[in-house]
Amino acid sequence: MEQTPKEEIESLRARIAHHSWLYYHLDAPEISDFEYDLMMKRLQELEQAHPEFYDPQSPTHRVGVRGFEAFSPVVHEVPMESLDNVFSFDELRAYFQRVTRGLTEAEQKGLKWVFELKIDGLAISLIYRHGLLVTAATRGDGRTGEDVTANILATSAIPRRLPTINGSPPPDLLEVRGEIYMTKQVFNRLNAEQLKAGQPLFANPRNCAAGSLRQKDPRVTAKRELSFWAYQLAQISSDPGITSHIQSLKYLEQFGLPVNPNIKLFSSQIEIFDEISKWDKRRYDLDYEIDGAVLKVDDLRLREKLGSTARAPRWAIAYKLAPEERETKLLAIEVSIGKSGRATPFAVLEPVEIAGSTVSRATLHNEDQVRLKGVRVGDTVVVRKAGDVIPEVLRYVPELRPANSVEWHFPERCPLCGSYLERKPGESDTYCTNFYCEGRTVQRLAHFCSRNALDIEGLGETTVAMLVDLKLISEPPDIYRLQYSQLIGLPGFGEKSVTSLLQSIEESKSKSLTRLIVGLAIRHVGEEVARLLTKRFRSLPELMRASKEELDSIEGIGDKISQSVHEFFDNPKASKMCSELIELGVALYEPTGNLGADEVAKTLTGKVIVITGTLAGFSRETAEEAVEARGGKASSSVSKKTYALVAGSAPGASKVSKAEELGIPIIDEDQFLRLLQLGEYF
Ligand code: NAD
Repeated sequence: MEQTPKEEIESLRARIAHHSWLYYHLDAPEISDFEYDLMMKRLQELEQAHPEFYDPQSPTHRVGVRGFEAFSPVVHEVPMESLDNVFSFDELRAYFQRVTRGLTEAEQKGLKWVFELKIDGLAISLIYRHGLLVTAATRGDGRTGEDVTANILATSAIPRRLPTINGSPPPDLLEVRGEIYMTKQVFNRLNAEQLKAGQPLFANPRNCAAGSLRQKDPRVTAKRELSFWAYQLAQISSDPGITSHIQSLKYLEQFGLPVNPNIKLFSSQIEIFDEISKWDKRRYDLDYEIDGAVLKVDDLRLREKLGSTARAPRWAIAYKLAPEERETKLLAIEVSIGKSGRATPFAVLEPVEIAGSTVSRATLHNEDQVRLKGVRVGDTVVVRKAGDVIPEVLRYVPELRPANSVEWHFPERCPLCGSYLERKPGESDTYCTNFYCEGRTVQRLAHFCSRNALDIEGLGETTVAMLVDLKLISEPPDIYRLQYSQLIGLPGFGEKSVTSLLQSIEESKSKSLTRLIVGLAIRHVGEEVARLLTKRFRSLPELMRASKEELDSIEGIGDKISQSVHEFFDNPKASKMCSELIELGVALYEPTGNLGADEVAKTLTGKVIVITGTLAGFSRETAEEAVEARGGKASSSVSKKTYALVAGSAPGASKVSKAEELGIPIIDEDQFLRLLQLGEYF
């Protein structure tokens, strides 16, 4: 079904927020910069056409994302802006026209543009006081960045002290902005080391530079050999008489701050187009990555006149270079299984150098895309490495197709577990049908949190997928270890939503054992079977210990189910996970209220039980309720009449010593569970 503009805007905003998070916080983008830029462009177009859906929180009005709490915040006195993008000469021409329109004739005549390479790294603000580097901060959301001073001081890329020039000391305050980046040479060396150590490879120099800068241990940053180009004088305490950008760069350079040698001043637009075309061809000759060019108005007074939008200056524009394309051989088409069971076809390629790195795999997205592109094993294909992240097969070269090539068909079975793959009518993606396939973590976790299971409001599939991406959760117990500081600031998580999610998680702990069993997603065990199980086994530890025979003896549970339940708890991974849930106090028993009054066996008639300390699976109230529901009496003091003292953790010393004195049995929680069920403990 076609989306309404509102739906498309909302979906784009959510997707952009998600990918920004992966990119800025985890330095682990999943889509190419090019795809990201296209989504952003589409969102801008839609927002312009539909001003009624204006939202100041939209990513089109924002810069990056707020930093991690791992680093102290630094408030930027002068906001660190982003740049608006253009993708073609036509768009660049339109931008030039927009700028000139706002200027007087004299201003238009004298207008000069500074051409700079757009370095693919991350922005940094450096504050020097009395010539000493005192603060280095990332851009963050443009207003507040992260304090990475210790890490910057550990690198040799940036002068720590500014020299005295011709007898004049450096200004009291100097703020310089620039790009931290990693050379291709260092990047390749690091990846070679990773490979040798059997560690995962870094995706590209930009992510590697960003990750290296945001290390907790500055010694790690030091080893990563970062580099720096200065491109902006942001603040200065004394006026050195600078009126243009070019002058400001020269001023910075004399202090030993590295300024890129390829910066040029132009007054003709034609020359700017030529310069861009030149760098489009030459970009791969550089020892660092660029993703475009930046054009900046040179005259600082004009810059002030032009001002800024909410996220970017009007006096500068980034021209994004199109990603590089290369031809290579398609050796095979295979399928990978994603976290939610999605089967994605990908191309195995004859290794080819693209944009400075070797590509041997490229995504083919889905079945329709393969069909549309018509690629076959043996074809020569055109591959693009957009934004240098995920390479993509664009098309095949018909003239080079081998005579005997055959059409490719989507495999019927999952490559991980061998189950059938299924594509639902009307959908473009294909999924593994096996819920238990190791590729389906997200769905299993989302099921655990679903309404029929632990009913954790706020943990739907999208949020779960994000938390899995962020490596915050991978198994149900992880949900109960989530903390405020890990969630605050994530897309869609303000103070209120984090608090209510954590509350919902906490509340889910006292949901019934039936729900927990449903949530565990044991094969063949739905709500009905879960209910039969909890009727027989009143606690998770009991169910975990149940033998196959015990399970078989339950009416309504056949061999297939008992086999599956037994196998589930027999699996060390599952039983470890359940033990963790027990430790975390999650839905360990079935509240008596869930069983009809006559269903509760009167196992404790006439017995007086005293409870002390904290029990993992019961609150004091529910434990006493459980005793009374079975005909027993819960008392608060130990006497000769006491049948047993149930001692949880941190038991009352006087109760314990009284019980010892009177020879009253002291039992633990497991024994208490047996007592409830059987009327005796052992
Ligand atoms: P940007 O990279 O388009 O432009 C602004 C940045 O350019 C500045 O902050 C600065 O760091 C850098 N820059 C490099 N050379 C410069 C120069 N000479 N002068 C001035 N600035 C220079 O914008 P952004 O807000 O940093 O990031 C947005 C971009 O990041 C997107 O366009 C996209 O390409 C990428 N991104 C990708 C993903 C993804 O999932 N692949 C997600 C988020 C962002």
